Parts: sequence; C-alpha cells; structure tokens
Amino acid sequence: MARVNDFDRTIAFSDAAIQRLRAHRHPAYPRNYELWYTYATGYNSALNRAINEALERAPLLSEQDLDLLYETYLSPLRLSERVDNIGTRILSEISEVTDVLKNAREANGGYSDTLERLAGEAEGLGDTGKVLGGLARAMVSATNAMVARTREFESLLANSQDEMQELHNTLEVIRAESLTDPLTGLANRKFLQGTLDSSIADAAKGQRFSVLVIDIDHFKAFNDNYGHLTGDQVLRLVAQALKQNVKGQDLAARFGGEEFAIVLIDTPLAGAVAVAERIRRAVMTKDLVKRSTGEHLGRITVSIGAATWRRGDSGQTIIDRADRCMYLAKRGGRNLVVSEDDPRVTADMAGQVA
Ligand code: GH3
Ligand code: MG
Ligand code: MG
Repeated sequence: MARVNDFDRTIAFSDAAIQRLRAHRHPAYPRNYELWYTYATGYNSALNRAINEALERAPLLSEQDLDLLYETYLSPLRLSERVDNIGTRILSEISEVTDVLKNAREANGGYSDTLERLAGEAEGLGDTGKVLGGLARAMVSATNAMVARTREFESLLANSQDEMQELHNTLEVIRAESLTDPLTGLANRKFLQGTLDSSIADAAKGQRFSVLVIDIDHFKAFNDNYGHLTGDQVLRLVAQALKQNVKGQDLAARFGGEEFAIVLIDTPLAGAVAVAERIRRAVMTKDLVKRSTGEHLGRITVSIGAATWRRGDSGQTIIDRADRCMYLAKRGGRNLVVSEDDPRVTADMAGQVA
C-alpha cells in the first residue's frame, strides 16, 4: 500500500519538476531535475524560499541561477561539510560527557571509601553503631554498583567516540574524492573554482595571484593516431609535469578534457611566465613511449596563457583572459607561452574593440 502511495506521490513530483524544466527551458540534466524535483517536494524549505524569491525578481531562472541554487542548497559537497561539522560537534560533546562521567565515578569512589571507613568506626561503638555500620555498608554496595554502571557507560561512550571518528575520516575521504579528477589525480574544476574564489578574496587583502591555462597541442590528432587510452596516458604525463613544477600552496587542476589550469599564489605575471616556460619545456622534452609495445610516439607540446589578478576580477574573468592568451599561443604556432602583457594580446584586444 505504501508503495502505491509512494508511486503516485513521486510521479506527481516528477511531473511537476518536468513542467518546470519545460517552462524554464532548462536542459533535463540530473542536477536540474533534482533541483526542481526537490522544489516540488517542498522538503528543503531554504531552497524553496530562495527559488520563490528569485522567481519574484524574474519570472525565469537562468542556468547561472540554477548553478548557484544547487551549490548553495543541494550540492553533496556542502552536505558532507554539514555532516562533518555536526560530527565534530558530537565528538566534542561525547568527550565532555566522558569527562563528567569520569569525575562522577571518581567522586563516587571517594564517597564509597569514606562510607567504608565510617562503617568500620561505627561498628566499634556498640549495638547502635552496628546498625549504623550495616546501613553504611548497604550504601557502600549501592555506591559501588553505581560506580560499575558508570564505568560501563564510559566504555559505551568510548565506542561511540571511535565510531564517530571513523565516520569523520570517511567523510574526509569522500570530500577529497569529490574534489579530485580521477584520471590525473589533479584537482578538478570544482576545486579550482573554490581556490579561485578564495584567492580573489586574499587578493583584495593584498596577496596577488596569477593563473595559467594550459592546452595540449594537436591532441585530437594524437588520439586519432594512437587511441584514446594512450591519449589518457599522455594526460597523466602532462599532469605529472604540472605537479612537479608547482610549489606547495599552488594549485594544478584539470579544467576540461585536455585543458589544465594552475593558480599561482603570491606570484606576479613575470613569475607565472617563468613557471609556464618550465612546464612547456618539461612537457616537450618527455619522450613518449607506448608501454604495451615500446613504440616511440614522438613528442607532445602545450600552449600556455598567463594572466594575473586585477581588481574586480571574478574566477571566470581571470580564466577567460588566460584562455585568450592561450588561444593566441595557438595562433602564434603552438608550443608557446603568451602572457597578457604581450603586445600580441594588446593588439588582439584592440582588434576586438574595433
Ligand atoms: P589544438 O592544438 O588547437 O589544441 O588542437 P587539439 O586537437 O588539441 O584541440 P581540440 O580542442 O580540437 O581537441 C581536443 C581533443 O582532446 C579532443 C579529444 O580527442 C581529446 N580529448 C579531450 N578529452 C580527452 C580525454 O579525457 N581523454 C583523451 N584521451 N582525449 C581527450
Ligand atoms: Mg582544447
Ligand atoms: Mg588542444
């Protein structure tokens, strides 16, 4: 019976979600669907409030609106962060309760010792003393039983604490995985976006940064000649070259299929160009050998664009500038680094305005 109800209810939610997708002309990607489905259920009241407010401002939500709503109210990453925070709070509560119990057990232990001593003394005082002594001994045994129960409780709490710690560690792993590109082990696009956002916030406080966009040259031809799997090997090799040429706090990310980006913290444009040159040379000097056959596959090159933070930049605008420089490196013959203070870039911008 419950199943039938579930069926009707969820189909109704689904219909409502599809209707919204149609009305807003949003592609029915799972996350867009999830957003409208959740809206239809009304289970996430913060999400519904935000959507209703947005709909009051404009009758249709844009894709950017959807991205923001999803990130803020539904992203599984945020969920794991929330669970994580709760986990940390519970861990500290457990440890506080454990301390209280331990103190209580110690106090009760002391109380029991005192009663024991008094019982001994009372028993030396004749008949009335014997009666009092008997009472005191009964209290001792009740107190001891309480101490034993407290000890049991303490050990239960210690187990909960272990389980909670394990859950915490699992969430850490899930979070790391959700920010990593599985093919190359580099940061993924989401991680890149987060780092760009925080770097922009730091830049406003005086710590500038620069960005590189890196694209493999003629990679389509390489894939066509040697196959997608060998192509994937090359992506790993390039990723390795990136990793080896950036410092600890810098971030190397796989940005798209065969495109990469690097955020260079506390680095001016000239420094970024130097890193880009190092990477360009590191990649072109690698001799590619197909593991399975030993066949030499020639060399691979990359084109790199470099841009540095400007006041008012968003993650997108700085990446766009680096991307345009990268495109000019392609036009300039590939296997090149072009930075945004290059005269070619200035000329290109002027051309765009004209
Ligand atoms: P250009 O020098 O202008 O960058 O030429 P290109 O062929 O590298 O550029 P284009 O953007 O036309 O092609 C990118 C190609 O990269 C398309 C596809 O064959 C390949 N590619 C994209 N993602 C992957 C991936 O995950 N694995 C593999 N093996 N190849 C990929
Ligand atoms: Mg490309
Ligand atoms: Mg390419």
